[in-house]
Amino acid sequence: MPQIPEPQIPEPQIPEPQIPEPQAVAQDAREPQVRAPQVREPEAPAPLTLAAIRQVPKVLLHDHLDGGLRPQTIIDLAAEQGYHDLPTADAGDLGKLMSGAKGNLELYLEAFRHTVGVMQNRDALVRVAAECAADLAADGVVYAEVRFAPELHVSGGLSLDQVVDAVLEGFRRGSADRGITVYALLTAMRTAARSAEIAELAVRHRDAGVVGFDIAGAEAGSPPSRHLDAFQYVARENFHITIHAGEGFGLPSIWEAVQWCGTDRLGHGVRIIDDIRAAPDRPPALGRLASYIRDCRIPLEMCPTSNVQTGAAPSIAGHPIGLLRQLSFRVTVNTDNRLMSGVTLSSEFLALTAAFGYGWGDIEWLTLNAMKSAFAPFDERLRLINRVIKPGFDAVRPAPAVPAA
Ligand SMILES: [Zn+2]
Repeated sequence: MPQIPEPQIPEPQIPEPQIPEPQAVAQDAREPQVRAPQVREPEAPAPLTLAAIRQVPKVLLHDHLDGGLRPQTIIDLAAEQGYHDLPTADAGDLGKLMSGAKGNLELYLEAFRHTVGVMQNRDALVRVAAECAADLAADGVVYAEVRFAPELHVSGGLSLDQVVDAVLEGFRRGSADRGITVYALLTAMRTAARSAEIAELAVRHRDAGVVGFDIAGAEAGSPPSRHLDAFQYVARENFHITIHAGEGFGLPSIWEAVQWCGTDRLGHGVRIIDDIRAAPDRPPALGRLASYIRDCRIPLEMCPTSNVQTGAAPSIAGHPIGLLRQLSFRVTVNTDNRLMSGVTLSSEFLALTAAFGYGWGDIEWLTLNAMKSAFAPFDERLRLINRVIKPGFDAVRPAPAVPAA
């Protein structure tokens, strides 16, 4: 994967290396709509409030389509489709129930049963995808890769290709004129046996808005190497891979994802902390796998609140993201399931600022990490970095001090 030079370690306020834009950039049909932030040069940084964080341009790489529905939409779709399993027809109560499943795996899975249950026809998929794009744009996200598992949406008679077409249509509608680019990642369920088929599906739709292939589902007992055929196919097609690994299961899952399956990014990857020895009286010592992942700048798609809910981390303040960010791993911040976790990307950043004292420089560093790690083509990433993200952050914090001669 092409790598853009990293910022200097570990000082987040150090300006990014200036990356020249290619002189002649082809204007293709998928060029992102560029926001033109009001650039000013504030004397002091803007206060770090939720409203202010929502204003800065952000990038989201790990978000599940079936984990981010609006409660009212679930109720509307259930009524349209004669789906009678919802526990309540009140949107407020349903939202609370679904996001209140913290620490209760049964309730958590139950929530997905309902969202997937109402996403079984074209109109429903288009609506859910369009609302997803609109909601992310309203939160200040300028680039997102949203994933879903097509094999979970065929019980109403749609083919896998029709499922993908419907979701991509929804992303197009929802992102039009909203200053956001939304691409899809196709997920295969690791406990099922359709990964090769889903990998082919992803490659087949690569020019229509699918940018990568993923596997998800219970990690224990379903190592990534079970799906080696699918990953090798994707690699042969020069396409992109991200793998849920190191969330519910530890280092062997991460090692297989990286060294057997050739993943470009790691979904979660929190358990890489198990390969880092930290003691109060000496610098942290990285094992071979942790060193490899940091050296190769393999992105970690971290989802703090979701990890606390599933028990992969004890609390936000106790989340490995704190140490991994200090050690300059290629950390990114993500939402995972906005509805079930009751979060937005902005609220995740706000939680991190409260837990770790992050400032605008840290949020910008994490955002640039995400943009550099995206599966969009290099020139598209560069345009967003130079024309959208950097001007957006320039508007909320003072320009870096000019070093004394
Ligand atoms: Zn996930």
